[in-house]
Amino acid sequence: MSEKKLNIVQVAVPTPLRRKFDYLLSDAINPEHVIPGVRVLVPFGRTKKIAIVLGKTSETEIDIKKLRCISKILDKKPVLSEDIIKLLNWVASYYHHPIGEVFQTALPVHYRNKESASEQGISFWFLTDLAQQADWDQLKRAVRQRSILEQLKNAPEGLTKEQLASEQEGQWQAALKVLCEKQWVASKIKQPVVEQNEHDAKIVNNPGLFLNEEQQAAVDALSQNNTVYFASLIDGITGSGKTEVYLSFIEAQLKNARQVLVLVPEIGLTPQLINRFEYRFSVKIQTLHSGLNNTQRMKIWQQAASGEIRILIGTRSAVFTPMPDLGAIIIDEEHDLSFKQQDGIRYSAKDIALVRANNADIPIILGSATPSMESLFLCQSGKMAHLKLHKRAGNARAPEVHLIDIRGQYLQHGMSRTLIDLIKQHLARENQVLLFQNRRGYSPVLLCNKCGWISHCHRCDAKLTYHRQRNHLRCHHCLTEQPLPLQCPECGHGDLSQLGMGTERVEKVVRELFPETDVVRIDRDTTQRKGALKNMLELARDGRQQILIGTQMLAKGHHFPNVTLVAILDIDQGLYSIDYRAPERLAQLIVQVSGRAGREEKKGQVVLQTSHPEDEMLNTLLNLGYSGFAVKTLAERKELLLPPYSYQALIRAEANKIEKYQAFLEYCFQVMTSIKQILSTEDGGTDCDAQFLGPIPAPMEKKAGKFRGQLLIQTSQRKQLHHILSRLIQTVEVNKAAQRVHWSIDIDPQEIY
Ligand code: ADP
Ligand code: ZN
Ligand code: ZN
Repeated sequence: MSEKKLNIVQVAVPTPLRRKFDYLLSDAINPEHVIPGVRVLVPFGRTKKIAIVLGKTSETEIDIKKLRCISKILDKKPVLSEDIIKLLNWVASYYHHPIGEVFQTALPVHYRNKESASEQGISFWFLTDLAQQADWDQLKRAVRQRSILEQLKNAPEGLTKEQLASEQEGQWQAALKVLCEKQWVASKIKQPVVEQNEHDAKIVNNPGLFLNEEQQAAVDALSQNNTVYFASLIDGITGSGKTEVYLSFIEAQLKNARQVLVLVPEIGLTPQLINRFEYRFSVKIQTLHSGLNNTQRMKIWQQAASGEIRILIGTRSAVFTPMPDLGAIIIDEEHDLSFKQQDGIRYSAKDIALVRANNADIPIILGSATPSMESLFLCQSGKMAHLKLHKRAGNARAPEVHLIDIRGQYLQHGMSRTLIDLIKQHLARENQVLLFQNRRGYSPVLLCNKCGWISHCHRCDAKLTYHRQRNHLRCHHCLTEQPLPLQCPECGHGDLSQLGMGTERVEKVVRELFPETDVVRIDRDTTQRKGALKNMLELARDGRQQILIGTQMLAKGHHFPNVTLVAILDIDQGLYSIDYRAPERLAQLIVQVSGRAGREEKKGQVVLQTSHPEDEMLNTLLNLGYSGFAVKTLAERKELLLPPYSYQALIRAEANKIEKYQAFLEYCFQVMTSIKQILSTEDGGTDCDAQFLGPIPAPMEKKAGKFRGQLLIQTSQRKQLHHILSRLIQTVEVNKAAQRVHWSIDIDPQEIY
């Protein structure tokens, strides 16, 4: 190291390398402008990349002569606040993911690839001195230019494009351009003005409902710890008024001049929820979700970061949004799988939110009618307060749930006589019926009755689903499409059967059975058009004597006041999975779907068609409810040392040949086995109980033409898991041969089989 103090800047560069990069500052750059969170342009290999400043140091492990200089500073103000930088550093280390990619993922797209994107604020146009002194009579024939000048003359503060547009017409934008070229008009970017006294302005639009005892008790418990880190689980049956509890809690936060972040599942972001927030509060509320374009996302990000937005409701990636006055985080439907990202960085927004709340020393509330085993475990171990709501709010009562034994019953296209009769009874009372089938399309399999040929996808280990309306076969995994064959492609026989039921087929059957009744099918195929889902939900909410058919999409969050019968057509599909989490998922699904019945005065009824009425899990759930089911499930997990009583990571590998992924995972297995030995014998080393399970093929080994395999690591100590992984990655990263497969690490995997 040289004696002279060096100005070295550490940055996160978007590359798959798991490290920070050091750069020097040239004399042309003022070191004071290089602050953490500011974007810089850096030379990288033969290109230039946009990187984020993490900090400055005076030491580096790299040979000083090899260090290059930062080319340019892109922002005057940091685009990421210190707390978010800290959070992203944690994400990179916890998920063992390249830090540059972590920062890349967290930033709005425009910040990732546009050098100028950070000019926060709005452009204002104004007259230059040149124009003030010029003789405007030269412009007699340039009517539009003249008109723009006249408008600007009266606005010394400048005007936005929108303001100009309100008085100009025709090709005025071209005229404006000419004026700019002549330097008669110039533009200036101004920061949006945030009303400083907005906090004192009116916060509540409409008062909340009069809370029942349980709700009030929950709100009281929450308000005892509303300015420090405190995690609570609101475990309340569907319709028990959890949202109402959040709203009361949020009101207190807003009155303390704090911002609130609400995370919701991907399809939980319903207009109903947003309306409820907007009805209640008059502060600025925005939603952040995948349906927005890049410019909209960026704008919301900036408004949250400037403090203008007081309540931000968003899906998982919203957890990275800077919010300077953040006072609390709420995670609704916390059990939902969509909080876990299943590609790229496989992060859990829930876990990141818990870390963020802890760092910021603020409360966090998780809510669900079917809490995850992880959250219930945290409650058991005293790390989370367990607040229960047992009763439905208002006048609604919980529905009755029954099994329909379909063994030996004649099924009319998947529907038993018992079910058809029930539907008739409910319709006769002018009520709605909801039929749940978790499969899209018409039939999931096409079969040749002569030779047994089955419609397989040639790129995946999966069957092609027949979609009747489009009259084609489609793979739901790689999206391959094929026209419907008229005869068997193997033997030429013309007799092909459509096996199994998708929602499209359920719709057809139901229309035939109940020709007088309105039928609404809600799944991904019928809701592709923008606004389609919203319209259908409105139809469903207001309608009487209707049959609603749907997938997962209908299971969550929606409130259909007229639904009194909910039927799950095929529960057996989910009963025999080898994934240890499958029963939890199925129980959550059953309870969530059931929760759509009897939401108001009318009593609801729920039926499940099964040919396994003796199934233990189903009976536990029916007799003891979700909480009884959860107690039993947690006991089993403890017995078998499965999460949350142990920690897992899954190494996934993908290659164009089976042997390649196998060789890679085999190599990881060997490396980890020796790491384990070293760990156990090292100084102060404790016994390492890590188990390596695999390599085995992925549940769908072939997908979109690639072969995939996996290796599971499980330990009783989180620290050991991370230790082994860090060392493994160090070894793998210097091994050229290993780089030939595509591999990833999934910490706390949610779907392992
Ligand atoms: P959850 O979020 O638990 O499903 P919600 O907060 O959406 O429950 O409440 C379910 C229904 O009960 C809503 O229609 C809501 O307006 C109503 N509700 C909630 N709390 C009360 C209350 N204290 N008094 C009357 N109705 C209530
Ligand atoms: Zn055939
Ligand atoms: Zn496919």
